[in-house]
Amino acid sequence: MTLNTAPLQTLRADFHDLTLDEALVALRQRFDGRIAFSTSLGLEDQVITDAIFRNGLDIDVFTLDTGRNFKETYDTLDATRKKYGQAIKTYYPQTLAIEHYVTIKGINAIYESVENRKECCTIRKIEPLNRALQGAQVWITGLRAAQSSFRADMGLFERDEQRDLVKFNPLLNATSEQLWGYVRKYDIPYNQLHGQGFPSIGCAPCTRAIAQGEDERAGRWWWESHNQECGLHDGTRNPLKKAA
Ligand code: SF4
Repeated sequence: MTLNTAPLQTLRADFHDLTLDEALVALRQRFDGRIAFSTSLGLEDQVITDAIFRNGLDIDVFTLDTGRNFKETYDTLDATRKKYGQAIKTYYPQTLAIEHYVTIKGINAIYESVENRKECCTIRKIEPLNRALQGAQVWITGLRAAQSSFRADMGLFERDEQRDLVKFNPLLNATSEQLWGYVRKYDIPYNQLHGQGFPSIGCAPCTRAIAQGEDERAGRWWWESHNQECGLHDGTRNPLKKAA
């Protein structure tokens, strides 16, 4: 299937009742171009990685090393490589860009203004992500509707206009309990910070544990008001969100 013949409504209807394994196998059969999966090594992404590798699917699994990840996140990456014996391509920020930023603004400039924080996310995350997704027809993500009100409005399939690709969120409606069920069933390696109040894990300087009753992403960029997204998903337009 080409990008132009992939109406979102049809895709959403066809994939609505499939299990995760069925959906990933069907996705590979439906699209003939490159399919890429970006993993942050969080719980959702570990479940998807397991399903891709366990089913032997021709899907590129990659991660972004921002240079500011938690040690526990690197441990998860290592454990995952060892368990599956598969390569997880790792993308880094452009050296000159991050050297310039830190030299001029300082390593902790992210706390001084939203502009500085967004510039850091652009250099360390968005530019490497855009490079990793070049030539991809489909981008698989681990987004879940329950993570935040922003994500609650997303659909199973969306179109990323900026990157000119289809985005597939196979765990959109999964619950936390279902994810832990997958982890136990398939003995999936997971980030130990999940057991310490971190349901959502990003860069170390920008993630804190959450309190009971807070949104799952409340610990991300907690010093900013109304900001639990870094901009990776800003390219998504979702005109059919009510139809999902
Ligand atoms: S999450 Fe924080 S450290 Fe990571 S790229 Fe964004 S601003 Fe920089």
